[in-house]
Amino acid sequence: MSYVDEIYERVVKQNPAQPEFHQAVKEVLDSLRVVIEANEDVYRREALLERLTTPERQVLFRVPWVDDKGQVQVNNAMRIQFNSAIGPYKGGLRLHPSVNLGIIKFLGFEQIFKNSLTGLPIGGGKGGSDFDPKGKSDREVMAFCQSFMTELSKYVSTDTDVPAGDIGTGAREIGYMYGQYKRLTTKYEGVLTGKGLSYGGSLARTEATGYGLLYLTDEMLKCNGVDIKGKTVAVSGSGNVAIYAIEKAQQLGANPVTCSDSTGWVYDPEGIDVALLKEVKEVKRARLTEYAAQRPSAQYHDKASEGTNQWEIKVDIALPCATQNELNIDDAKKLVANGVIAVCEGANMPTTADATEFFQASKVLFVPGKAANAGGVATSALEMSQNSERLSWTFEEVDAKLKDIMVNIYHNIDDASKKYGMEGNYVAGANIAGFLKVADAMMAQGIV
Ligand code: NDP
Repeated sequence: MSYVDEIYERVVKQNPAQPEFHQAVKEVLDSLRVVIEANEDVYRREALLERLTTPERQVLFRVPWVDDKGQVQVNNAMRIQFNSAIGPYKGGLRLHPSVNLGIIKFLGFEQIFKNSLTGLPIGGGKGGSDFDPKGKSDREVMAFCQSFMTELSKYVSTDTDVPAGDIGTGAREIGYMYGQYKRLTTKYEGVLTGKGLSYGGSLARTEATGYGLLYLTDEMLKCNGVDIKGKTVAVSGSGNVAIYAIEKAQQLGANPVTCSDSTGWVYDPEGIDVALLKEVKEVKRARLTEYAAQRPSAQYHDKASEGTNQWEIKVDIALPCATQNELNIDDAKKLVANGVIAVCEGANMPTTADATEFFQASKVLFVPGKAANAGGVATSALEMSQNSERLSWTFEEVDAKLKDIMVNIYHNIDDASKKYGMEGNYVAGANIAGFLKVADAMMAQGIV
């Protein structure tokens, strides 16, 4: 059996009931086959793949907190410190009822390669809890965040592990966590990114993932002879990534016509009104029904009663920006039948494995999240640099650096796909380019 197949079997056996983690490992290992096989003896002797697929450290803890009625609540939480070969662990904290060990391990594993692709010195990690901030008062969210950080603070610091936001962890949650870290340690340091501008945050961090997604998409289209201007775009999600993807798509002259949340989706043929979307989602924290109620051109579709989603709209570009496995093979077939040119993942692993293969077989330009959404973590690393310098850069400076990084990522994954004989396969290109740097650093640092 090949080394790659052996390792995949090992991962499945040693990590039962973690399908998302298995899926992520399989996708990466399959596309690394050609590189691994060229160096199989060395990698085997060094147990490189065993080490790469096993987190360096997994911290599991409980988070007790008191709700507004005086009832004690208990959530499960974790931080997976996956790989520190090229820098301190870096990756977000997800707060969502679906959070479990398999999901956080898949995200942490992906983060290793994504962080490597940015070209910045950051290792891979991820964390989170099954706490749901939705429907909680600010005081309850604060109680949770303080208790969460009381435990997490033992394992993070500016030089070891620097968490950030993710689904459910926005500016409010990061603020409460940062306050508690400072109180516990007496240190005013950049231990978290995604901070508010008044206490060490970076300009353009809020916009970074969505903007970065569009910078990369634009560059890829240009290099494939396509102008983004005038193209119709379907976006899913209406959170941080989706909102700023829609905003930048419009700035580049494209027309994003959909967005969604967990209960429904909106089709707005005149183009999504970003100011209204921000008001509904960032200020009122309301549902998309509210957007549709205030926007005559928008049609609202309820997901549960209709069984539909935004992928049935005829578009040139699809940008899944909500969550994992939200675009399946049936959706992919509809998009291809409607003539989609490009699919770029704003979320982490939003496309199922069979849908990804179908896009590739149909010659759709497809960029995986670890490359396309790396702008968020890249700008987090720029926030770390500013904190270390005790300086703040202007929006334009950060945005220009972000754009450079995203353009470079596109060229690196394109070059890697060509070098290994898989031109246009950006999944393989991203995995190979991300892997080579990490593997080199791991080999240089010996058996650790
Ligand atoms: P937000 O919490 O801001 O928004 C998430 C959006 O997706 C919301 O519209 C939410 O709807 C929807 N959503 C979440 N879970 C589900 C679900 N199970 N089914 C359907 N819809 C769902 O998160 P972000 O925008 O920050 O993150 C979106 C994705 O991008 C995630 O995969 C994240 O890991 C990834 N990512 C984020 C980065 C960042 O900088 N923020 C960086 C790189 C990747 P609702 O409000 O109804 O729950």
